[in-house]
Amino acid sequence: MNLKQGTHFTQKSFPCTQCGASLVFCADEGALRCEYCGTINRVNPPKLPLYEHDLENALAKLEHTPKVDLQADLHAKCPSCGADFPMDAHIRSTKCPFCASPVVTNLDIFMPLAPESLLPFKINQKEAKTIFKKWVGNLWFAPSSLKKFTEADSRFSGIYLPYWTYDSQTHSRFKGLRGDTYYERVRRRVYVNGREEIIEDMVPRVEWTPVSGVIDRHFDDVLIGATKTIPRKLADALAPWDLENLENFDEQFLSGFESEVYQVALDDGFHYAKEYMSYEIREAIRYKIGGDKQQITDLKIYHAQSSFKYILLPIWTAHFKHKKNDYRFAINARSGTIRGERPYSKTKIFLALLLVMLILGTFFLAAEMDNGHFSERLNHMQIRLDQF
Ligand SMILES: [Zn+2]
Ligand SMILES: [Zn+2]
Repeated sequence: MNLKQGTHFTQKSFPCTQCGASLVFCADEGALRCEYCGTINRVNPPKLPLYEHDLENALAKLEHTPKVDLQADLHAKCPSCGADFPMDAHIRSTKCPFCASPVVTNLDIFMPLAPESLLPFKINQKEAKTIFKKWVGNLWFAPSSLKKFTEADSRFSGIYLPYWTYDSQTHSRFKGLRGDTYYERVRRRVYVNGREEIIEDMVPRVEWTPVSGVIDRHFDDVLIGATKTIPRKLADALAPWDLENLENFDEQFLSGFESEVYQVALDDGFHYAKEYMSYEIREAIRYKIGGDKQQITDLKIYHAQSSFKYILLPIWTAHFKHKKNDYRFAINARSGTIRGERPYSKTKIFLALLLVMLILGTFFLAAEMDNGHFSERLNHMQIRLDQF
């Protein structure tokens, strides 16, 4: 593997057909757009069928491929200003830190697997910010600094994240127990006014019957985030994606955006996919067993014809620091779905609690005073009655 310290990549830029400036991909146009003269340059990715690759074959091949060191310190050269700058080894494309020109490297040729398809950006940065602001506005007890953060724009970045999609034909054998609830009459001795009585209660019981069976399920495009930049939970929560619109991979889509190569290995990704499938299969088995309660005592899942695709999906992301903690947000740049970790303002929660206590306090005090008033009046009436 020739991914070593100080490796230099070749960089590509996409010059405008009119003025020669670097083009960036524009979400509104779905094409490359010149930021200087406004010329639209269409992206024409090859029209090839998108293949699902046999997983077993690929894993066997990867066994004999040397591992890539994604910790290596790499260098890229800006095609516009010529500056030489260091890049993290998992970054395929970025913007030049000196002149902000798009830089797209050929990092994929050093990797055992290269992406074959992607979904281009559809939501632009401005729309992403509006979605983010609305989300923050709807949050209860968000610190004021978060609202201020939504006003600043520098830290909102568009990035293509690597994902694996897995297909699998599963065949599962299970053993378990079906529980049906029935009621049993139970006699009980009680004492009413010192006298003994027998009463009957209906007590719920569960009758367990052994069950077993098989269940076949096909899984299509189980998506697993292959990034380590944002937590996998967050990356996976951005679903659903319109995968039916996947385009053939073309570097021009990346121009102006950051993009990453996979950092979760193909077999590790399949491990996560199997966990997800197992959860779904268990749900299906419980449904099949029926009854009021179910137990699965033994389960064997067999996978056949498993296949995968390596794709890139577009997201807008930002992170926000609050009291030394880092919070991340991500927006699906196709559908606008937003997911994020959120900070809570302790001061705001404290003030809200204080307010609730004040309101309750005033209420009780008022009730108390009213009661006092009432008993005073009663006393008064008593006195008057006594006079007669
Ligand atoms: Zn131009
Ligand atoms: Zn530059």
